[in-house]
Amino acid sequence: MLGGTFDPIHHGHLRSAIELREALGLDHVRLIPCHQPPHREAPGVSSEERLAMLEVAIAGEPGLMADDRELFREGPSYSADTLASLRAEYGPQARLVMAIGHDAFLKLGEWHAAERLFDDAHVVVIERPDHDAPLPPALEVLIAGREVETVQALMARPGGQLLRLSLPTRMAISATFVRERLALGDSVRYLLPETVIRHIEAHDLYRPQSE
Ligand code: ATP
Repeated sequence: MLGGTFDPIHHGHLRSAIELREALGLDHVRLIPCHQPPHREAPGVSSEERLAMLEVAIAGEPGLMADDRELFREGPSYSADTLASLRAEYGPQARLVMAIGHDAFLKLGEWHAAERLFDDAHVVVIERPDHDAPLPPALEVLIAGREVETVQALMARPGGQLLRLSLPTRMAISATFVRERLALGDSVRYLLPETVIRHIEAHDLYRPQSE
């Protein structure tokens, strides 16, 4: 699972998903748009539109799947609930991984039912350029005794462990940067797939702010 607001999806997400799948030897990576982010303001673009951009971005890419399950749940979209539903679907023996960027990881100790995340899955932290702050104490407590050093050790169990991964391509692209450029009417070419850029234009999303 790679969850996010995907507001909009960009090449940082997409390369991470592909390289994560390769590094861990995963059957597939489910990209799961967050319907109601619990820890940030509601995105300006609807969940349905964010899902639609994700779908056009990954079209034809085997191993990447758009998963819309959070759109059907009322209330804040807690990852603990999403992982519980994936665990129920795949059964107790399947190896499940929740991947998050280092910026999101730093706040993991504040997440709803953070302990439950490890009941249902492993957590894999993807290093991100410009995001290398030290871990807050609450996070140190949450992850104590869970960290493993190798993919092999991680995949020996169905869940409950933590691995930090430095993937081959680390891109300093963020959705915030993409939104800022779109708001200014500046080019976002090569930051995200052309299909997503065309979707944004066709649906008049992230319209440049008038002066
Ligand atoms: P925003 O700038 O709006 O906060 P974002 O670019 O961080 O957005 P999200 O949708 O919030 O994107 O991110 C979903 C997940 O993908 C998070 O775990 C985040 O850390 C990770 N992620 C986002 N961009 C990158 C990147 N360039 N490299 C690696 N991981 C990333």
